Amino acid sequence: MEKARIKIGKIHKGQHYTEESKGKISKANKKTFREGRVIWNKGVPRTEETKRKMSKKLKGRKCPMKGKHHTEEAKKKMSEAKKGKYMGQGSSNWRGGISFEPYSLEFNEALKKQIRKRDDYTCQECHQTEKELGYPLACHHIDYDKKNNGLNNLISLCRSCHSQTNFGRNDWTKYFINKQNV
Ligand SMILES: [Zn+2]
Repeated sequence: MEKARIKIGKIHKGQHYTEESKGKISKANKKTFREGRVIWNKGVPRTEETKRKMSKKLKGRKCPMKGKHHTEEAKKKMSEAKKGKYMGQGSSNWRGGISFEPYSLEFNEALKKQIRKRDDYTCQECHQTEKELGYPLACHHIDYDKKNNGLNNLISLCRSCHSQTNFGRNDWTKYFINKQNV
């Protein structure tokens, strides 16, 4: 045993691998290995089937939106969708989602007349009638959304009261909603 070790030691004498050469060898080995792979693949004919599979694989790796630009509209929708997601139904800003908007009434003279009639042609804030005021009442959008023409989002106001609703909008919205619920 002792002899054998000495023998080996003799054989390798003067042939000690430096750290550098070890690194080179390891690199060389790796290279050969890689080349081996290349060679192994080389000459293997790609059938239509494999070509199709490979292209499918590549396609799958690509970003689906690559090359497709988001339009402003799409971006808006996405941001709205996000808002809905994060705010949830418990949020005060939640109104059931745009696509479920139950109000499709057009804000026109007929609708205004309907609201004024419902409110007995009386300002719902100071209770003066159109007769007293001498002009038709304004129809105020409680949530300030001109597209939300639901009957419970509209209220008849005189010019004076209506002009006041331009200040402290959030307070007025809450105020009118509470008023309706009484
Ligand atoms: Zn009024």
